[in-house]
Amino acid sequence: MIALVSGGSRGIGKAIVLRLAQDGYDVAFCYRSNAEAAEQLAKQAGEFGTRITATQCDVADPEQVRDWYNRTEREVGPVDAAVTSAGITRDRPVILMPEDDWNQVLRTNLDGVYHVCRAAAFAMSKRRSGSIVNLSSVSGIYGNLGQANYAASKAGIIGFTKSLAKETGPRGVRANVVAPGLIATDMVGDMSDAAVERMLKNVALGRAGKPEEVADLVSFLVSDRAAYISGSVFEIHGGGTF
Ligand code: NDP
Repeated sequence: MIALVSGGSRGIGKAIVLRLAQDGYDVAFCYRSNAEAAEQLAKQAGEFGTRITATQCDVADPEQVRDWYNRTEREVGPVDAAVTSAGITRDRPVILMPEDDWNQVLRTNLDGVYHVCRAAAFAMSKRRSGSIVNLSSVSGIYGNLGQANYAASKAGIIGFTKSLAKETGPRGVRANVVAPGLIATDMVGDMSDAAVERMLKNVALGRAGKPEEVADLVSFLVSDRAAYISGSVFEIHGGGTF
């Protein structure tokens, strides 16, 4: 079994790479700039005994994604599971938001998902099997102060994935969305303490989630245990209200 994970070097993506390696997948993951973190993870995940490959690839760039995907299928083999975790935030109220912050977030989060899914859905549809999981966010469902660009990108991922599931379902390819609440990663480190406190106050379980807890859900969704699940959105937020 072969899995492809975008934004796999840190945070939730890293936990997904480790979990899928533990599940027995060869894993090809990409990162944007932090080669050191990627190399360390490749070593760590490799200890489960499967083949792990790390590639520098900016998901916002269609050419780079095409090359990464094609090279993975050529050198590792046919991809059974594709997971998109690459994502960024550039938080600012709408009235103060520079166009560059809007564009960067949309290009990375939404265009990035489109680039990876186009390649994966094409190859998987030809083989008539495969599973895709895209990482959205509760911000994309409920909105969030200071995150209009991020929320728009994450809401876009939901509409995109539901449409993709309709297109690929008849060809045996499933596509689903995971929408986490507050998960303890570097991305949360970028948020202000006040914003984190505000979010945690509304979480029934009273804590941030762990990346491994999101990875468990992804592991289930890409597996055959989820054979009848497609076009669905799974919120994972410890009983949060947003
Ligand atoms: P992190 O910031 O911890 O990690 C982001 C990862 O994505 C890194 O591996 C980074 O690589 C990679 N990445 C960023 N930009 C690009 C790019 N243009 N091309 C390729 N890779 C890229 O984020 P999280 O793990 O917290 O978030 C993962 C996903 O989950 C995101 O889509 C995020 O929106 C979503 N999410 C996170 C939540 C949270 O609370 N943490 C809540 C809800 C959703 P590098 O280090 O090299 O830049």
